Amino acid sequence: MRIILATSNKGKVREIRELFAHEEVIPFTDLLGPLEIEENGDTFADNALIKARTVFEALQDDNAVVVSDDSGISVPLLNNEPGIYSARYAGEGASDRQNLEKLVRKLKETGFSATPAFYTAAVAVVGKKGEYVVHGWMHGQIIDTPRGDDGFGYDPIFIPEGYDQTLGELDPKIKRELSHRSKALSLAKPIINMLM
Ligand code: IMP
Repeated sequence: MRIILATSNKGKVREIRELFAHEEVIPFTDLLGPLEIEENGDTFADNALIKARTVFEALQDDNAVVVSDDSGISVPLLNNEPGIYSARYAGEGASDRQNLEKLVRKLKETGFSATPAFYTAAVAVVGKKGEYVVHGWMHGQIIDTPRGDDGFGYDPIFIPEGYDQTLGELDPKIKRELSHRSKALSLAKPIINMLM
């Protein structure tokens, strides 16, 4: 099975490769080079579909199955910020560290040192036989002090439900079992098989 990923985010590519260890997983940039994709949807699902469709159309290969992930973290205490803006919370082109620092600053402004938060992943699958979107979620807390170097993005401040360490500290195997992306991808797997 040959899965084309509509992402070049190294953290996501690594996680998706680990989940589809027996398949060929190719980031679209290896085939198409850099491609400007405007993520102007209002939801994770819209943005995931925009990415997968854009790559599928650019590939001009009816046999390709393109998989995309649009994901982010939402904090109910902050009106569900940053949500779909997670990758650009501190501005267009901001680094993961800058985005995390902004969220820590916002949390500190509330006077709380921890508050509930959840990750969402929308995974879109686009092939010549159709377009599908599935979701996965991971609930937990964010804290105001980053801990650990594993994972990416907001992982050093996210503690999953049932644990007391952050995703930056926990064994990556645990994240693979719990994550929003793993849950969405396991739902996407039979869809990908059906479209191949
Ligand atoms: P996207 O690439 O447009 O989907 O943006 C996803 C952004 O959400 C990333 O840049 C991270 O900031 C955040 N994010 C999504 N999933 C995770 C995760 O598993 N860990 C940490 N941050 C994540």
